[in-house]
Amino acid sequence: APRSSAELIRAEGPVLAHNYHPLPVVVARAEGVWVEDVEGRRYLDMLAGYSALNFGHRHPALIEAAHRQLDQLTLTSRAFHNDRLAGFAEALAELTGLDMVLPMNTGAEAVESGIKVARKWAYDVKGVPADRATIVVADGNFHGRTTTIVGFSDDTTARTGFGPFAPGFRTVPYNDLAALEAAVDDTTAAVLIEPIQGEAGVIIPDQGYLTGVRELTRRAGCLFIADEIQSGLGRTGTTLAVEHESVVPDVLLLGKALGGGIVPVSAVVARREVLGVLGPGQHGSTFGGNPLAAAVGSAVIELLATGEFQRRAAELGEQLRTGLAALTGKGVTGFRARGLWAGVDIDPALGTGREISERLLAEGILVKDTHGSTIRLAPPLTITSEELASALTSLERALA
Ligand code: PLP
Repeated sequence: APRSSAELIRAEGPVLAHNYHPLPVVVARAEGVWVEDVEGRRYLDMLAGYSALNFGHRHPALIEAAHRQLDQLTLTSRAFHNDRLAGFAEALAELTGLDMVLPMNTGAEAVESGIKVARKWAYDVKGVPADRATIVVADGNFHGRTTTIVGFSDDTTARTGFGPFAPGFRTVPYNDLAALEAAVDDTTAAVLIEPIQGEAGVIIPDQGYLTGVRELTRRAGCLFIADEIQSGLGRTGTTLAVEHESVVPDVLLLGKALGGGIVPVSAVVARREVLGVLGPGQHGSTFGGNPLAAAVGSAVIELLATGEFQRRAAELGEQLRTGLAALTGKGVTGFRARGLWAGVDIDPALGTGREISERLLAEGILVKDTHGSTIRLAPPLTITSEELASALTSLERALA
């Protein structure tokens, strides 16, 4: 007999590493914004795979592209060319207004790859002495889980026990241009920041910060690397979050939604002068740029090229903002929102973020807490106005 949710959760304990503490729901099926558990209970997905599911679960156009490609070719490695990769890179360059693409798989790999490219650029183009390149990052950053990346995180849970860490990183307060200016010098290869800090609780910098980072890095002769792995691809009401200040970074890191919630697809996208520093054998990935990933990624870009998802995120984002404003003082102590993305601070007297998430689960809403009493709302961009209204009503009930 098929195992129940409770049995499946119990079964994980002895055989799965305990590096997560999932909410007690076992998802078995999903379509659009709705997921269904083993027992057939339905939930509205207000997390959307940390924005990997911007187009909802199993978007028909993406599933069709994946099916079509499964019947043709799935993997070649980059030892050979495949017939899907050129089109994917062309489409991504066109979507972002940049020149060249380095295809990878996960977000952390895109970040690692961006760091490698920036250092190589610093030595080859800027003329930094060998092994002296530095990269400036921000307090509260989240860029992934590799040893190098957690080494420049200030989250003690993410770091402790995993050293020694790679040198060459300087940390400055986020949203502080003066501190950034002071940290940048002749050794600086790049400034690496999230245009909006997702894991930190949807922290939106002051208007002018991204423009300031762009001007400062240009003046200092170092690269501006924007990690848009979570903020990019429609989430904030524009294709990229940097568009809110009409800023074009030198290097763009994409992931999550680029794979349509079907396969892991990430990319470093940059100007030719930057990505052009890589030569054969200097970087690689067995799965990076595989034809299945390229086919799904191309279909994702086609969806984004319509502008429909960005428009929905912007319009429904207004509704989300209005709804959260109405709850402020009624259990919500504050919130930050852009597009269909919000960090909502809950009155700690009402419970931890985890407890609120469990109460919302009982209401049929899937969310995830971030730090302390903050929950993050990031539904698929396909959510309807009615569904969003019902999620807000559920939040009101969970806070009552
Ligand atoms: N960068 C940002 C801004 C992220 O939000 C994340 C994931 O949450 C990552 C990088 C890491 O992506 P992945 O989990 O695919 O390695």
